[in-house]
Amino acid sequence: MIIDTHAHISDLKFDTDREIVLQRASDVGVGTIFEIACEIRYWDIALKLSQRDNVFVSFGVHPIDVVRVGDEDYGKLEILIQNKKCIAVGEFGLDYHYDSSMQNINIQKKALVRQFDIAVKYNKPIIIHCRDAYDDMIDFLKQYKNIPKGVIHCFSGNSKQAKIFVEMGFLLGIDGPITYKKSEKLKQVVLDIDISNLLVETDCPYLTPRKYGKQRNEPSYVVEIVEEIASIKNMSTEETAKITTQNALTLFNVEYAS
Ligand SMILES: [Zn+2]
Repeated sequence: MIIDTHAHISDLKFDTDREIVLQRASDVGVGTIFEIACEIRYWDIALKLSQRDNVFVSFGVHPIDVVRVGDEDYGKLEILIQNKKCIAVGEFGLDYHYDSSMQNINIQKKALVRQFDIAVKYNKPIIIHCRDAYDDMIDFLKQYKNIPKGVIHCFSGNSKQAKIFVEMGFLLGIDGPITYKKSEKLKQVVLDIDISNLLVETDCPYLTPRKYGKQRNEPSYVVEIVEEIASIKNMSTEETAKITTQNALTLFNVEYAS
């Protein structure tokens, strides 16, 4: 039994075959899905998806999207995260990949503080998106004595940064790139960090594992990530699946998975 701890099934790329995709996941043992709704236009679709027994949901605003968000939206976010199927706030964070201007960084940092505060207020774990901004994120988090528990989603930093996040109490999300030939740095991170600190995620429809080439990614492919971690750590696939699933259930206070 495996959980895809980070999927975007609400994405319009699944509009034509969402049911089939969910069935295919469950057929290969990926019975539970954590749906991450980080664009306002997907919040309601994700909420509806989470009415299924095996779908849990997280709400937030992605750093690329924060420019479009106002007070009213944050008000709605606070209401959404009180839903009983909502396991976390996020993904939110910092992303300097496309625009690292001071103006954009400041907007992103304001949204980061705002969502961090909401998570603290409602005692929810956090799902952090961080791209080309690890040192800024570490500096931000270091200001706080009590950091909510959470995951650094789709970790792509180095082992030194990985260890800092783990010391702060975070888990690291491992995605499709671990299967890429050029990902030596990430493979080293997986080798250096104890399995008790790792989660498996697809981030579908993005970041398709190598085996599936340029196809759209989907939750059933998370098996590829479990197998790659197992091979790096010289563990069995079953043991790797079991431990990472337990990590996810514990982190997000979810009592069961199917
Ligand atoms: Zn994502």
